[in-house]
Amino acid sequence: MKRCSHPGCSWRAIAPADDAVWGQYARHLVAEHSTTVDADIPSGIVQLKFEADEDWITVPVEEARALQAERHSD
Ligand SMILES: [Zn+2]
Repeated sequence: MKRCSHPGCSWRAIAPADDAVWGQYARHLVAEHSTTVDADIPSGIVQLKFEADEDWITVPVEEARALQAERHSD
């Protein structure tokens, strides 16, 4: 279950497969948060953080997926 990391956002992924979840999450971030968090974020770029005490990072969707995979391999 992938949940949105933005404070106060109740969005959750409903797709069963990781790839589909990331696609949904990326679209959600772009649609719901990219314009409100930072209007200068171009299409295909997402902001995310993995832990509550970490800073937000701004990365392309593909890099976000790679980072997520990295975290999960620890
Ligand atoms: Zn959200």
